[in-house]
Amino acid sequence: MFESITKSLGSALGNLQRGRINEANIQEAIQEIKQALLEADVSYDVVDEFIKTVTQQSLGEKVLKSLKPGEQIVGIVHQELINLMGPVDHSLHMRKSGISIIMMCGLQGSGKTTTCAKLAKMLLAEGRKPMLVAADLQRPGAIEQLKTVGAQVGVPVHAEDPKGNNPVKVCQNGVAAAKKTSSVDTVILDTAGRLHVDAELMKELSQIDRKLSPDQVLLVTDAMTGQDAVRSAKAFNEALELDGAILTKLDGDTRGGAALSVKQVTGVPIKFIGVGEQLDKLELFHPDRMASRILG
Ligand code: GDP
Repeated sequence: MFESITKSLGSALGNLQRGRINEANIQEAIQEIKQALLEADVSYDVVDEFIKTVTQQSLGEKVLKSLKPGEQIVGIVHQELINLMGPVDHSLHMRKSGISIIMMCGLQGSGKTTTCAKLAKMLLAEGRKPMLVAADLQRPGAIEQLKTVGAQVGVPVHAEDPKGNNPVKVCQNGVAAAKKTSSVDTVILDTAGRLHVDAELMKELSQIDRKLSPDQVLLVTDAMTGQDAVRSAKAFNEALELDGAILTKLDGDTRGGAALSVKQVTGVPIKFIGVGEQLDKLELFHPDRMASRILG
């Protein structure tokens, strides 16, 4: 595993075959690790913090006879990545009775609408009765798109005319409609995004958060946006009380460093990952697998 980074660390650590890892012999190896993490799109600040921790952990470690020093440091790095991206938490808080509300938020294009339907499909398979609410009144086509994907996964969609309407009202009406029927126990709110974080968007989302008191607020982030993922995650986390994150588009060739960045800046667990456009392409997040992917 991790042949390429192990090899470069091996040469960085030169002929260190026994003794202890120290400041002098680890420097070059640390640069290699830094490079690997940046190439995997981990954000700069997070990389710096990570490097400090790993250096501390590595210093004074006795070079094990059974391992090459490169392998030993890769082992430490791998374990630290798992620790930081963990612990595993796929749970979604649901009410025992009444309607559970899941609010989905994220930038436009992050995959929010698609992920609402994917999540509904996953919940259906677990025996829940989800309904989608089209609260993105901003993006042209978002309402129609939600209706389409809702129909594809076989769940009802609450949608209203966006003209002159406001998203809080749509969400409240959606929940009220859900309460009237026994065929819904979970409401998923597809809220608006923007191309970039702005004050107006955050105001709208915090109003929904305050008025609807969702049981879960989940941030949807595009893993391919690399360094930008951390900026938007920070902004959403400051405006809302996030409970978890979903990282999309991990079917591409991105190495997934956004997972570490998003976990580090928000502190909330990454619950699921999107691995394709199709509506069954939502998987549980596993820190160990992502750590391996980041190391390449
Ligand atoms: P929204 O603006 O955040 O609601 O984003 P959409 O749900 O409309 O998704 C934007 C684009 O990303 C669409 O073309 C989706 O099919 C695509 N998409 C969403 N999730 C994934 C994913 O996990 N993998 C891939 N490859 N594409 C995705």
